[in-house]
Amino acid sequence: MDDKLRIESRLAQIGSQEDPATGAVNFPIYQSTAFRHPRLGQSTGFDYIRTKNPTRSVLENAAAELESGDVGFACSSGMAALSTVFSLFGQGDHLVVSLDLYGGTYRMLERILSKYGITASYVDTNDLEALEATRRPNTKAVFIETPTNPLMMITDIQAVCTWARQHHMLTIVDNTLLTPFFQRPLELGADIVVHSATKYLGGHNDVLAGLIVTKGSELSTEMAMLHNSIGAVLGPTDCYQLMRGMKTLALRMERHESNALALADYLLHHEAIAEVFHPGLPDHPGYEIQNRQSSGNTGIFSFKVKDAKYVEPLLRHIRLIAFAESLGGVESLMTYPAVQTHADIPVEIRDAVGVDDRLLRFSVGIEHASDLIADLGNALEAARIELEEGITLGGQQGSDR
Ligand SMILES: *Cc1c(COP(=O)(O)O)cnc(C)c1O
Repeated sequence: MDDKLRIESRLAQIGSQEDPATGAVNFPIYQSTAFRHPRLGQSTGFDYIRTKNPTRSVLENAAAELESGDVGFACSSGMAALSTVFSLFGQGDHLVVSLDLYGGTYRMLERILSKYGITASYVDTNDLEALEATRRPNTKAVFIETPTNPLMMITDIQAVCTWARQHHMLTIVDNTLLTPFFQRPLELGADIVVHSATKYLGGHNDVLAGLIVTKGSELSTEMAMLHNSIGAVLGPTDCYQLMRGMKTLALRMERHESNALALADYLLHHEAIAEVFHPGLPDHPGYEIQNRQSSGNTGIFSFKVKDAKYVEPLLRHIRLIAFAESLGGVESLMTYPAVQTHADIPVEIRDAVGVDDRLLRFSVGIEHASDLIADLGNALEAARIELEEGITLGGQQGSDR
């Protein structure tokens, strides 16, 4: 597509000019695994679905363009995308990884990649001295999440990329929380961007998908080999569903951002709340870097209640806001990381980063901010009354992953 178009226009028009034969405004779902060859030695460009499918190609080209990369790859989930990316590495390789990390990524590194002799060290990736101290002769890549989930720690992408390049290491960024609408790590020097497209890109809590975008022809060729060989690719119907979601990404992200800031500000001034972690608040340690490298803030933030006893009644009393895992959809969800998303991270590491039993993560949806504030206010008040009256109700929610 015309690359002078602004990102809002490119998002809205994903796939809409790709089918000149019929003029279809929405690119069709090619629900076909096989493609006829016109004759021996000829191909339409499509042979077998795992390698390439027309619907998937439209999504992959859009992803590459949105992230300012060379090639995009659609995968069956965010974890499938990460698994494909990590398959670049092998026996004896070492990775430097963000300390406050998505639980599933940590589990993959520690339970699966470790079996293949790949090791990882977890550091504050914004501390260049700590990074340098962790680097070994066999360190092949830095893997960062910025902001991190749930603590919203910010890493200076450009600084890390410069350091990594000096030492011939790749920089991989999980850009799930900001999406290319707000942040494009490849423009800041990164080599690979990964997404759980299940979150903001899909945006409606109705499709599981992952994306990879690479920069550089050698790396892109290698990734294409891995994507096809591993086979954790996205089916055509899910590709369609994801593109359907991505068309409204700009509108949604703007609302997620303003809602989250309104809610963060409300909680900041609430007497039951001890701390609010939101990089859009001027006293957040990552505020300036975030402003410099991104054009906006995600709809997620976290906060700590003063007393862990608040958590159970609060989660029981929210009504509009759902107590559920996942993030990035139009509906507001609240998560208790210590028992849900981060249950696989050892308590020592969780405590070191600050993911404790008082921390709640809030994925703010696109409802009206006033309704969300009212819901949260009512739930906090109901929790306060119960605690004052000494009512204790048991029954903790377990992890449902
Ligand atoms: C959800 C998530 C993943 C995993 O993606 P799935 O689509 O659930 O497989 C990876 N990274 C981050 C930051 C996530 O939020």
